[in-house]
Amino acid sequence: MDFANFGLSDQIIQGVRGAGYTTPTPIQAIAIRPALAGKDIVASAQTGTGKTAAFVLPLLHRLTCEDVAHKEDRRPRALVLTPTRELAQQVQDAVITYGRSLTLRSLSVYGGVGMDTQIKMLRRGTDIVVATPGRLLDHMQRRTIDLSRIKVLVLDEADRMLDMGFIHDVRRIIDQIPKERQTLLFSATVSPDIVSLAGVILRDPLTVEAGMRRSPAEGIRQHFYEAEKDAKTDLLVHALNAEMMESVLVFARTKHGADKITRRLERSGIGSVAIHSNRTQAQRERALAGFKEGKYRVLVATDIAARGIDVDGISHVINFDVPRSPEDYIHRIGRTGRAGASGDAITFLGREELPHLRRIEQFTGKRFSVKQYPGAPVRADRPASKPRPPEDDRLPGNGPKLEGPRTRGKQHPFMSTVRKRKPFKKLESYSTVPGGGGWSNY
Ligand code: AMP
Repeated sequence: MDFANFGLSDQIIQGVRGAGYTTPTPIQAIAIRPALAGKDIVASAQTGTGKTAAFVLPLLHRLTCEDVAHKEDRRPRALVLTPTRELAQQVQDAVITYGRSLTLRSLSVYGGVGMDTQIKMLRRGTDIVVATPGRLLDHMQRRTIDLSRIKVLVLDEADRMLDMGFIHDVRRIIDQIPKERQTLLFSATVSPDIVSLAGVILRDPLTVEAGMRRSPAEGIRQHFYEAEKDAKTDLLVHALNAEMMESVLVFARTKHGADKITRRLERSGIGSVAIHSNRTQAQRERALAGFKEGKYRVLVATDIAARGIDVDGISHVINFDVPRSPEDYIHRIGRTGRAGASGDAITFLGREELPHLRRIEQFTGKRFSVKQYPGAPVRADRPASKPRPPEDDRLPGNGPKLEGPRTRGKQHPFMSTVRKRKPFKKLESYSTVPGGGGWSNY
């Protein structure tokens, strides 16, 4: 299969070649042809599957094929909605890359940056708008954007858009664009909410699936370490000092948590920066640029802010908290080991987080051993637990476990769940088995 087989224009093929792609990814292979034929599509595809090109290429093709007369009218003809600013910028970059030989104009419209420049650019005219819902609605209310000529609507990462509470905004936007249009909906997961949204906004859609990625890329080694809540920051500092971790993405569950971690790392002399939705756009961009340039060794992010972060060469992903959904886990750790590289995914696990590990195990069909971090610091206010007698059920090869004086004599809940596990062959790390489906090398 080659991109030339789809019937895309030569200029678009040039753009694809310029990006260095030779073979379409599975989602591109199944979505591009029907999209070019004008079908509405619900595509289940995660970040990293090549989903952006799967909608951008047909969209560019359609706009270039329109009548010459229409080309003079520079009211936007395609609208891409994304949940985050970062993702909007990423889609905009993709449009520029693949459309470099075309004369189309594209504009990204998101909050956190001045309205005035956007208004000026909109006045000049554009063919494509890539927008986050809130800022787009602002423009619609001020009548600084005219969406009456939209022919193609794309909802990118629709599940995130719903998770982030954008459903009403999205509905309001869609109510004000032409009904005669092509709609492409991309979503990592197709939940009942997505199905009901699709039922309202798409017409006779084709459903395509790139294969739910249940296992991460083969090069990602996964490690789980015991860490109680109040010991996690010390452990993080220890891990960052003890190991050669060049470029580390730390995931925190809350914005407040992300800030706290960053402050502590900075105090320990570890260059780090946080990215989350309370940061201004300029702050986020600076943080991301600083991380990419190597100015900060550590980027601390929340799940939502991490959407759309496209950084190659992340050597380690550290889950400071166990993600609440297995999909988020796969998504988070997929930030390392990109493009066939190897990487390490480390998860700190408190005993109350064991149910989340269970879900990850069920989802991925793997069992993971939970170990103690080598040389993990012992808190001064918490006496180190005594080694347990040999008949105890602790994991093989590991030192003293989480048991403290309070639980002595009782079976510790944490231990009770690990005790039933058979030892894995490899104790240092556990990599996933290949063949989990999906496109996992990006
Ligand atoms: P996406 O899922 O759209 O975020 O794409 C993930 C990564 O895959 C991006 O860095 C793209 O540049 C890259 N990519 C997309 N399509 C292809 C392809 N056909 N061949 C190689 N790389 C690709």
